[in-house]
Amino acid sequence: MNVTVFGTGYVGLVQAAVLAEAGHKVICIDIDENKIASLNKGQVPIYEPGLAPLVERNLSSRTLQFTTDAKTGVDHGEIIFIAVGTPPDEDGSADLRHVLTVARTIAEHMGESKIVVNKSTVPVGTADKVREAIKSELDKRGAGDLAFDVVSNPEFLKEGSAVADCMRPDRIIIGTDSKEAEEALRELYAPFNRNHEKIMAMDIKSAELAKYAANCMLATKISFMNEMAEIADRVGADIEQVRQGIGSDPRIGYHFIYAGIGYGGSCFPKDVKALITTAGKLDVTPEILASVEQRNERQKRYLLEKICAHFGDDLSGKTFALWGLAFKPNTDDMREAPSRVLMEQLWQRGARVQAFDPQAMEECQRIYGVRDGLQLCGTKESALAGADALIIATEWQQFKAIDVEAVTSGLKNPVIFDGRNLYDPKQLARSGIDYYCVGRPRIP
Ligand code: NAD
Repeated sequence: MNVTVFGTGYVGLVQAAVLAEAGHKVICIDIDENKIASLNKGQVPIYEPGLAPLVERNLSSRTLQFTTDAKTGVDHGEIIFIAVGTPPDEDGSADLRHVLTVARTIAEHMGESKIVVNKSTVPVGTADKVREAIKSELDKRGAGDLAFDVVSNPEFLKEGSAVADCMRPDRIIIGTDSKEAEEALRELYAPFNRNHEKIMAMDIKSAELAKYAANCMLATKISFMNEMAEIADRVGADIEQVRQGIGSDPRIGYHFIYAGIGYGGSCFPKDVKALITTAGKLDVTPEILASVEQRNERQKRYLLEKICAHFGDDLSGKTFALWGLAFKPNTDDMREAPSRVLMEQLWQRGARVQAFDPQAMEECQRIYGVRDGLQLCGTKESALAGADALIIATEWQQFKAIDVEAVTSGLKNPVIFDGRNLYDPKQLARSGIDYYCVGRPRIP
């Protein structure tokens, strides 16, 4: 099928590459000229495992093309995806500016019937707004009788495994009131639905809400475990043992119940906020969601409290090695990353940071530039050199097996503040390392 995707971010680019790999002919549009120029040279501007070879292969076979020319894209696609950002507005609601701009752009160039599919995460009722925006633009140019459908097809990929998630989705939700549009999307996704069990067709509002419900449920699990971890810290219990104890109950399960220093990224924080705002506008008091958010804000500062309890509130003259900048492993994304809150608080208290991340160093440089108090180091070992303590903010695989010798000889003092509970406290205590983590007793 001929497909057009507006937006070449984490969602649009991955979706486009995966659809092209399955045999569809895909054109991607972005307003960011630099991004499109890089993509046309085969350079992928984000890190996502498996994405670069997919883009390269489909670019050279021309099943995947990139352009800033919206008309070319609109002419090409019988199905047109909107996969642009929906950042939080000032009041926390989703800012639909980019989504509605794309809707108007589609209408401006539309010469025949199209299926417009919204993949961005948007509040309930957005499909109606997209429909109105297209209709009013068509009316303006005297093309009001052109037929089109608007479908909600929320995306559930996870950064860090986005390609694998799109290749083998858990489910594909199609929200539509049009049988023809549903059939077209079933055909589009047939390569990913070989056993006919993945596609769920539903009404548009349920599809729109399902995406928020999914992210808010996941954020709730994280905040719940973080609250349990603080209680565990106070009573001297071990949250890791609690996790195993409860995860074995199939009604709870092991997924997503790790304590840590809070969730980040471009989705959970903004989607929890957006649903809180939506609820408020509907006179629903979002009691659970408000607590989920508050707990997360507190959790991002949790490690700093332990650092200050150890070194005192004034950290001037202290240097901290920081392993992990990305908001989670296998991505270079630092949007709303707990590492940022940590670094900024350390700087406020006069400390310096020597940071290492396997993928997010360029992104960190882009965000903070060259500044006092931040040194980006080429390896995890060089980040340790002469530091007063090591802080771990992201659970990258390469941090998980500790090289005790490298840590103790690199650091000035053998102290670790682990925001991801990577190590066995007993083993570290035996190695003479003062080990602080989240919700696990410190062994002096
Ligand atoms: P992103 O910020 O990485 O990318 C958005 C892209 O859209 C940018 O390249 C931007 O230049 C482009 N854009 C903006 N306006 C445009 C326009 N008028 N025409 C063409 N391109 C335009 O965003 P993302 O992370 O890919 O997220 C996109 C949407 O998908 C959001 O609503 C997000 O909540 C949702 N989502 C994201 C994830 C994720 O893990 N990142 C997962 C599921 C859903």
